[in-house]
Amino acid sequence: MKNFYKLPKKVTFCETCVLSNQVPSSIPEFLHKPNRDGAKYLELSFDKENKFTCSPCKVNQSKQKINWQKREIELLKLLDKHRSKDGDYDCIVPGSGGKDSVYAAHLLKYKYGMHPLTVTWPPILYTDYGYQNFKNWIEIGGFDNIAVKPNGKVQKLLTKLSIENLLHPFQTFILGQKNIGARMAAKFKIPLVFYGESDAEYNNPISEFSAIRDQKYWINSNKNKFYLAGIPIKKLMSKYNLNYNDLKNYLPLDDNELGKTKIKYCYLGYFIKWTPQEAYYYAVENTNFKARPFRSEGTYSKYNSIDDKIDDLHYYTSYIKFGIGRASYDASQEIRNKHITRDEGIKLVSRFDGEIPNRYLDEILEYLDIKKSFFHKLVDKFRSPHLWEKKNGTWILRNKIF
Ligand SMILES: [Zn+2]
Repeated sequence: MKNFYKLPKKVTFCETCVLSNQVPSSIPEFLHKPNRDGAKYLELSFDKENKFTCSPCKVNQSKQKINWQKREIELLKLLDKHRSKDGDYDCIVPGSGGKDSVYAAHLLKYKYGMHPLTVTWPPILYTDYGYQNFKNWIEIGGFDNIAVKPNGKVQKLLTKLSIENLLHPFQTFILGQKNIGARMAAKFKIPLVFYGESDAEYNNPISEFSAIRDQKYWINSNKNKFYLAGIPIKKLMSKYNLNYNDLKNYLPLDDNELGKTKIKYCYLGYFIKWTPQEAYYYAVENTNFKARPFRSEGTYSKYNSIDDKIDDLHYYTSYIKFGIGRASYDASQEIRNKHITRDEGIKLVSRFDGEIPNRYLDEILEYLDIKKSFFHKLVDKFRSPHLWEKKNGTWILRNKIF
């Protein structure tokens, strides 16, 4: 059977959580080509009894052995070196007002005496409660903020093309958000950029679970090799009459933009024990963070990734392309942090994974000028035959954990 996106042909589930080996690792988004979206996968390694443990679980296991007191001392050294004496900005915290950015900025300012500038790449379609959380972050939390609202025409075009070419409605948001910290750090010559959890906690290679990320990752040295919405950027510019500046927000910094600033990209989750649930309670307590007033479609949770109406659709497309929906991600994270058991996780997956996110779907399709009938046909084109089969007119996953 054919396997799309170079996914492993045999589906194997992690022994610890509920993820399978079909989870794509986020290779830099600007290298995604059509039908190759995320073509690098979870690091597969089997133990002696031939059991498979996914890389986020391995990162989590390695965290159990960490001496957090020592790690905090490492953090204090780093902060002492960079803390400004006159109250000018000394670090950047990117975020849109979700629980993790609230937690990071608040700790840095009020526990560690830093002077963060918060920067925001706003969601494509803000939810009301997401926008309120953003305002509370700045107003109740007490932070300066720069929000960069990108050229709406270009963002709409790229988002639409990413859906058509990659079934990836969130690519523009992910890219903009990923680059904004570095871009603002270079512009204002602020050397530290702080994120919350490392990407390695989810599905990037374990080697990326480190204190500070290599600057090379963010530098754009060869523009010609980049793709946006699955199209080489040169072709994109000529076909849609765009110039490089129109696309710049979605691409890593080039050498000219970086100038002489030596930027350090740091993960607080390396230095302090970071659990998403605690970040949530902290944000509720300190900036009146509010969970979604209803359950997110496709899962059972209410407080993860709730700022953008398109986020729900993004998880649904992961279910279509990789067979892994939003409940699988949420349950896996909670199993690792020992909030639920694996059996409970499996039940949640069977109940919620793959639910169609109807609540905002019409609004999103209208915004992008995509017909619903076209969208559903498009979705079916991205189902890999090794994952899906059609029985009595209904698509079903060939391999399920339940
Ligand atoms: Zn796992």
